[in-house]
Amino acid sequence: MEAALAEVRAKFGHEYDLLIGGQRFQTAEKLRSVNPSRPAEVVGIHQKATPELASRAVEEAYAYFPEWSSTSAADRIRKLLAAARLLREHKFDFDAWLVYEAGKTWPEAEADTSEAIDFCEYYAREMLRLSGPHPVVQMPGEKDEMRYLPLGVGIIIPPWNFPLAILAGMTVAALVTGNTAIIKPSSETPTIAAKFAELLLEAGFPAKSFAFLPGSGSAIGDLLVQHPKTRFVAFTGSRDVGLRINELAAKKQPGQKWIKRVIAEMGGKDAIIVDADADLEKAVDGVAASAFGYQGQKCSACSRAIVDARVYDEFLARIQKKAEALTVGVADNPGNYMGPVISEGARRTILQYIDVGKTEGRPVAGGGAAPGDGYFIQPTVIADVPCTARIFQEEIFGPVLAVTKAKDFQHALELANDSEYGLTGAVFSNTPEHLRQARDRFFVGNLYFNRKCTGAMVGAHPFGGFNMSGTDSKAGGPDYLLLFLQAKAIAERVA
Ligand code: NAP
Repeated sequence: MEAALAEVRAKFGHEYDLLIGGQRFQTAEKLRSVNPSRPAEVVGIHQKATPELASRAVEEAYAYFPEWSSTSAADRIRKLLAAARLLREHKFDFDAWLVYEAGKTWPEAEADTSEAIDFCEYYAREMLRLSGPHPVVQMPGEKDEMRYLPLGVGIIIPPWNFPLAILAGMTVAALVTGNTAIIKPSSETPTIAAKFAELLLEAGFPAKSFAFLPGSGSAIGDLLVQHPKTRFVAFTGSRDVGLRINELAAKKQPGQKWIKRVIAEMGGKDAIIVDADADLEKAVDGVAASAFGYQGQKCSACSRAIVDARVYDEFLARIQKKAEALTVGVADNPGNYMGPVISEGARRTILQYIDVGKTEGRPVAGGGAAPGDGYFIQPTVIADVPCTARIFQEEIFGPVLAVTKAKDFQHALELANDSEYGLTGAVFSNTPEHLRQARDRFFVGNLYFNRKCTGAMVGAHPFGGFNMSGTDSKAGGPDYLLLFLQAKAIAERVA
């Protein structure tokens, strides 16, 4: 890892091209990504796609779709397995880029890269399953079958917080099912995306099967979504951008022949319930890891701890001690548990929320910026937060935990469900009846018992949320690739 960090650092400031229809482009305006641990360091220089280039990317991807969609599934699967193999070979390089461009600590970076590998391996096998025969009822005198076809041009819009895993997962899901893809990476983390685009080429994906199109979401996002030749959008990001994409995609444009499909995975305000008989040490560890891992910048992060009144004071004392012991600093130093938040803008927003939280509850740990040149924030715990508080209801996306007292388990469940989001949640309890009630009534897409609410594993924990958390696409699950396909039923009269 140390060697990879040194190698990657030596590549800082390199300029990367746009890729459209197999051709490389440069633009006058550039995008510079920085190292959030040391913002003076430029990690990568990228082109900023113009609306003309964005439109051209859709046209080119549309033109190549007939050729790519008629390749055999076996061929696409082989390419995807090659991509998984290459990712494994270059795992430390990708880890190092994640440390430097996304501010991930070593273990968080390793988890991101590993999840990307898992997505490739899992979707390759899923495509194998979906490309096989699908038995349907045979009508007398007929030969009946059903097969899955790709959709067309997909716009892939990932967030910066899993700049490799989520970008890779959405992109390869589109490609292995036979769609052409336009990758519009987050403006915070375009270098990791550029590295993955290079890897796709090395794995054998044709240069025309996808476009690499960095650029500002506000400048080219609407155009990509509204383009009449766009067939679907796979988005992961904030609630407001997701809702906008959903709204724009729903409106038919002149020349458009289909209803666009939108896969939108959005924010969270995830709660962990701590029951009166919970193992408090495990609960505190689980809450701290969920709230402060990657600085709280996970859609699955725990931002609300809802604690039974009987163990509330004890829990608070322990989580305070735990938070105060966490080290914050540059992400490349493995001695630090937390690195920086992603940007100056994010830091400002989070600090504003902390100020609001100080008026809505009682700060017991952290409460401000942490020292250093990077975008560092102390792990912050605010106690006695009512359910009407903004820090109880709004996604902060930083290391800020609101702690709320519940009268009993029923009240805790009501509080947990008092949110417009429904992504992840966890319960620490030793009462089987309470776990049964949570199974039925805790309204989230990913529910965990007696463990943290982050760290979904591909294959084991298909991921996606309810309500304003998105379309519940269940990434890394057996339903996911179907979102990138359409089924065709064929009946042949034989007698
Ligand atoms: P974001 O601000 O919504 O940005 C996400 C992506 O959308 C970026 O690539 C962004 O490009 C692009 N974008 C911005 N405006 C657009 C527009 N008008 N049209 C099309 N695309 C546009 O979210 P973020 O800050 O990157 O990510 C954090 C959010 O993602 C949090 O809310 C988190 O909960 C959520 N998230 C959800 C999941 C999940 O599975 N549910 C997983 C991870 C993250 P630019 O960077 O160029 O603006």
